[in-house]
Amino acid sequence: MNETMEYDFDFDCHTHTKEYSLCGEMTLGELLAQKKTRGPRLVAVTDHSSHFYYPAETLNQWLDKPGVFESRREKGNQKLEEYLDRLAAVRDQGILTGLELDYIIGDGLFFDEKYRRRFDVLIGSVHWLPCMLPFFEKHGGDHSRHCPFDLGEFIHWTGRMLESGIDVLGHPTNLYKWAGLEPDTRTIHWMIDAAKANHVAVEINCAHKDPGEYFIQKWLEKGGKIVCSSDAHSPAQYGEYSHAGKILRGCGVSQANLKEVLFVPRKGGSKSV
Ligand SMILES: [Zn+2]
Ligand SMILES: [Zn+2]
Repeated sequence: MNETMEYDFDFDCHTHTKEYSLCGEMTLGELLAQKKTRGPRLVAVTDHSSHFYYPAETLNQWLDKPGVFESRREKGNQKLEEYLDRLAAVRDQGILTGLELDYIIGDGLFFDEKYRRRFDVLIGSVHWLPCMLPFFEKHGGDHSRHCPFDLGEFIHWTGRMLESGIDVLGHPTNLYKWAGLEPDTRTIHWMIDAAKANHVAVEINCAHKDPGEYFIQKWLEKGGKIVCSSDAHSPAQYGEYSHAGKILRGCGVSQANLKEVLFVPRKGGSKSV
């Protein structure tokens, strides 16, 4: 059977558009055209929260600057409102409002809390650690090289993200991959306990092929909810769920019992903290 057809996930909680994500390669119109012919029923657009606020020309210079959010708040919020209006206009086509949240090192989220209830889903992803700043300085976001990794920092920032009121933890162990490492089981179990304690769902991210089967197996044993996503940045990546299919098959989840483990987005707003 075709892997991508074996499961109907009903909801893709993680996609990007080029209007609002600097790394996006598809317009909202292109995404809608894909959705119309290929489904699923619901798709959340989740552009990067930091991309609404930081000055693009200084990409790697603001990650550890606590004042940067304040200085960009007003302009960024204007952009965010424009984004929410555009998504609201296509809500009847099954488009939900989302964001992939980033944080500022030494500070909080790249997010104005007053907008929380206007989102159906907030994903939180750890895209960087303090130890990676010199790497960014030299190589930018080059994924063909191994980035530095510090376990204490990873635990600290993943914990902060999990406690921040997010609905879904995005590509939970992807930084390990970028560093050329495998997550150890002790850290995986710590992440599972922390996600459970904060009522956060875990993403099976098909673009990054993350996390692996062990993580999801243990997470499902704890009764955790999952969400399967494409993290599509381009029309070519749209609707690609083979990694999730492989993991779920390995964990003994079939289409018949998929509903029991899937995270369901709250209509009309993300959960409050
Ligand atoms: Zn991400
Ligand atoms: Zn993403």
